[in-house]
Amino acid sequence: MKAPQVLIIGGGWAGLAAALTATASGAQVSVWEMAPRLGGRAKSFTTAEGHERDNGQHLLIGAYTECLRLMRWVGLSPEEVLLRTPLDLRFASGAGFHLPHLGLGPFQLLAGLWRSGQGPVAEAWRLKERWQLFLVSWGWQRQKWRCAEDQSVADLCASLPPKIVRDLIEPLCVSALNTPLAQASGRVFLRVLQEALLGGIGASDLLIPKVPLSMLWPAAATHWLKQHGAEVHTHRRALSLLQTGEIRGSQGGSGGLGPWQVTSVVGDQRFEQNFDRVILACPPLEAARLLPQGLNPAWQTSAQALRYEAIATVYVQVEGVPPGKAVLPRPIMALRSSDQAPAQFILDRGPLGGPPGELALVVSACSAMDRESLTQAVLKQAQQLLATHPTLRGLNLRPVHTLVEKRATFACTPGLKRPSMAVGPQLWACGDYVEGPFPATLEGAVRSGVAAAEQALKGQGQQAIPLLIQG
Ligand SMILES: Cc1cc2nc3c(=O)[nH]c(=O)nc-3n(C[C@H](O)[C@H](O)[C@H](O)COP(=O)(O)OP(=O)(O)OC[C@H]3O[C@@H](n4cnc5c(N)ncnc54)[C@H](O)[C@@H]3O)c2cc1C
Repeated sequence: MKAPQVLIIGGGWAGLAAALTATASGAQVSVWEMAPRLGGRAKSFTTAEGHERDNGQHLLIGAYTECLRLMRWVGLSPEEVLLRTPLDLRFASGAGFHLPHLGLGPFQLLAGLWRSGQGPVAEAWRLKERWQLFLVSWGWQRQKWRCAEDQSVADLCASLPPKIVRDLIEPLCVSALNTPLAQASGRVFLRVLQEALLGGIGASDLLIPKVPLSMLWPAAATHWLKQHGAEVHTHRRALSLLQTGEIRGSQGGSGGLGPWQVTSVVGDQRFEQNFDRVILACPPLEAARLLPQGLNPAWQTSAQALRYEAIATVYVQVEGVPPGKAVLPRPIMALRSSDQAPAQFILDRGPLGGPPGELALVVSACSAMDRESLTQAVLKQAQQLLATHPTLRGLNLRPVHTLVEKRATFACTPGLKRPSMAVGPQLWACGDYVEGPFPATLEGAVRSGVAAAEQALKGQGQQAIPLLIQG
């Protein structure tokens, strides 16, 4: 039987996961990516000085089982490319959330919560506050980590003490959902907590990339794809889709239709090619634009209705730090944020394989502020942090790069109806925004890519890799 020709439009993490899965199932796969590099929002670029810098800091956690599986699949060792540390969202003062490995099995979380919130007296969690946290989380456990669809994270945590909300819930919510508490979906938040905190040993660990994002997975995935006969093109943008034959409904059924005729552009040249199946792995607005008129208006409307949250990353350089020397006591620290001090996290890039002395300050759910004001506000925040350390006080800091991704993630709001994976006959969508239990994350993107390719190749045979996550 002739291998089906599958086109994947978009070479982000979802598209590459779909391509690997489809190739392993015996399809003849082509990936078209319009940018010069693969990786989508999670890639690196080369600066004018020749450094590799990420398109924003990315953190993974131990519960990202599909990302880890696909890294191993293409020959990478997660242990070599990721720094694994226990979940640690403590502030400079030592207050905040910390989940060290205590070897206590199922009691690990309780013990971790108990030990968290230490630090100076004014910031430490009091016994009564810890007890309230225990009662509320026990309630979540009894409800099997589910809540009404219209509940926000703020609603869910209304009975928690403000200190616990500020030190624990806010950093977790903003880092996982990139959406402010009052607008963030309680249901998705509980799902993330369940996966991370109760997902077994190591699920809550932070996995911090030690190599530039493009080398973390996209480059190795591309190499594997090419070695296994897939075609991977950059600089190639899909312009339009047209299904030859009669279009009958929107559930991805076969129905004897002709192949998809896809027009693409490379430089100023246009091409037309036919494919048996198409997976849209591009962002939702572009996917909606590509749909032929009248094919699935409901899908288009839900894709166009998504709202977005920005993430800004301000890279600053501490002068005079020797190679290999850390600036901060921990690779990542939480920051107290406010309108004037907007960053919530700081990472020390030197020990993570970046230039010595480079710090990355992350502003999640970044609201309107012009780039220059944002850079200055974050720089001041970094200076104030360093001033609290006797050995760092007086060191010179300068901003080196500010990146603002306006559409970093979709706003993960209560009751949000996300576009489905099935779009039309022999046409599927994948990406972090597609219907699923997770917020916009690498893991959500990768799981969605795997699932779309499985649907597209259903009954196709080989299944050369274990495609489904166990359990
Ligand atoms: C600054 C920042 C920080 C983040 N931090 C984290 C984090 O810490 N942890 C985490 O898990 N997630 C994080 N995320 C989210 C994560 O990056 C995304 O969830 C993930 O990369 C989405 O992958 P995707 O493949 O679904 O989409 P995308 O990465 O958007 O890929 C879509 C691809 O389609 C291409 N494309 C578009 N139109 C066309 C066309 N017509 N033809 C061909 N190609 C096309 C695009 O160029 C792009 O490469 C962060 C995102 C940002 C921006």
